[in-house]
Amino acid sequence: MASLQSYLSGAWTSGAGKQNVLVNPSTEEPLAETSTEGLDLAGTLAQARAKGGPALRALTFEQRAEILKRLAKAVGDAREELIALGIANAGNTRSDAKFDIDGAAATLMFYAELGTKLGTTRILADGEGVQLGRSARLFGQHVFLPRQGVALHINAFNFPAWGMAEKLAVSLLAGVPVISKPATATALMAHQIAQLWVATGALPEGAFSFVCGGAGNLVSLLTGQDVLAFTGSGSTAAMLRRQENLALHGVHVNVEADSLNAALLGPDVEAGSDTFNFFLGDVAKELTQKTGQKCTAVRRIFVQADRLSATRDALMERLADVRVGNPADEKVTMGPLATAQQLADVRAGIDRLAAKAKLLLGGSKAVEGLSAPIGKGYFVAPTLLEAQLDTGADHPAHTHEVFGPVATLIPYRDTPSLVSRVAAGGGGLVSALYTDDRDVAREVVMGIGPYHGRLTLGTQKLAGQAIPPGTVMPQLLHGGPGRAGGGEELGAQRGLALYMQRVALQGDRALIEHLLAH
Ligand code: NAP
Repeated sequence: MASLQSYLSGAWTSGAGKQNVLVNPSTEEPLAETSTEGLDLAGTLAQARAKGGPALRALTFEQRAEILKRLAKAVGDAREELIALGIANAGNTRSDAKFDIDGAAATLMFYAELGTKLGTTRILADGEGVQLGRSARLFGQHVFLPRQGVALHINAFNFPAWGMAEKLAVSLLAGVPVISKPATATALMAHQIAQLWVATGALPEGAFSFVCGGAGNLVSLLTGQDVLAFTGSGSTAAMLRRQENLALHGVHVNVEADSLNAALLGPDVEAGSDTFNFFLGDVAKELTQKTGQKCTAVRRIFVQADRLSATRDALMERLADVRVGNPADEKVTMGPLATAQQLADVRAGIDRLAAKAKLLLGGSKAVEGLSAPIGKGYFVAPTLLEAQLDTGADHPAHTHEVFGPVATLIPYRDTPSLVSRVAAGGGGLVSALYTDDRDVAREVVMGIGPYHGRLTLGTQKLAGQAIPPGTVMPQLLHGGPGRAGGGEELGAQRGLALYMQRVALQGDRALIEHLLAH
């Protein structure tokens, strides 16, 4: 069995004591083990602050962009090898693994291109400057400067490649060294990528560390110039936020957590129309891609009561084709859940929903996976439930995230009741509206917009050429208010702000302009 290592203070090193075992979720066979017990995490933090930060800050945006290009290439060149790891350790189908790996490479390249555009400066202007006095000389300009600490990135199990790469791309471009910690259960792909990145020789000393296993006391060591960027469950996030040092030192914390994302069919959309089929295609994809283990997957499907039966029939027909099993077999279209804990949580979540909604398809019962050993693997069927008209805001579909291929069809009465039920999700990453009525679009966007980080708007003219709502775009913000954690990542240049301090410079215009240009 492979033994995974951490990359700390410029060396690959193994932890002692009890090992965490990584398994193949289709067969339950052990694949690798790892531990961080006894490792010098404080030492790597000190090295990143002392060496990595100054080395990165000495580079211009353009030079940092060159590093990102080499890291993107390393991921792209190893695509086939990484796909195999996604199939083995994360239960990904080939297409799921490509989504993760290509997302990683594309986000690195996007930020590389942004860095090239930002050019040979090290100080970033924040908008236009202003004249402050009667003389044109007295000038004010907001700028961004790299924080002089470390970015600790804690990632979820579902996107070992993309999750790690998107955070790293933004941090390194901002000029802040990274300590990256993947979720342990699916760390095989992240570990391989970390090895490839180190082997490029592109990373300055101390700019990148990799913690393969538990985070130990790392979070408790963060201080005022550091950043904690966390992706995972709301409960872990809440526990981390309560750490005293984070409050005491005002550490910048960004949380990307749970989300009860919704797909909304506008009241104007007729069953069978192009817009209706557009909506159905997105919903079916979002439900089953990565076995529903996407923070952006659709969990709630809202349709006006008179479109309920047409939607139910069409969705059940589409989901009937899903072949659940070991993704090593190419006939399989949906793999297992990633871990035994995930399987237990998803089954319990389905039961919780089914106590208040009718089960239409799937359910919490055990599933034998195609091409998997009998009785093995963390398989669950695609599951569709149907709530009654006028569900209360306390219905579990609005309060409980089931992180698997599970969604609830929810009929609504009119647009105001639709808006209030979507908002009952308590804040989400993304929801998708399908309508060709601009008044409906305005009412819904105004009503649910403040509860979201991103909204996708599907119209007939866009059918067949839109990107599904669950795909996170580096150009646009990722994150959301409330339950979703209140975080913001990506959004092109906006994403750099997390890792930089906004400073108002006030003084001689010529001097300020000189600083910005060099
Ligand atoms: P999780 O159990 O909260 O774990 C997330 C990360 O936190 C893992 O790396 C985990 O490490 C680490 N962690 C756990 N306890 C910790 C502690 N005491 N100190 C420091 N780190 C700690 O979440 P998950 O099961 O991996 O992911 C599923 C959840 O993530 C879902 O709720 C999903 O909605 C959410 N998610 C959100 C987004 C988003 O962008 N909003 C994206 C993906 C997933 P170990 O693995 O070593 O325990």
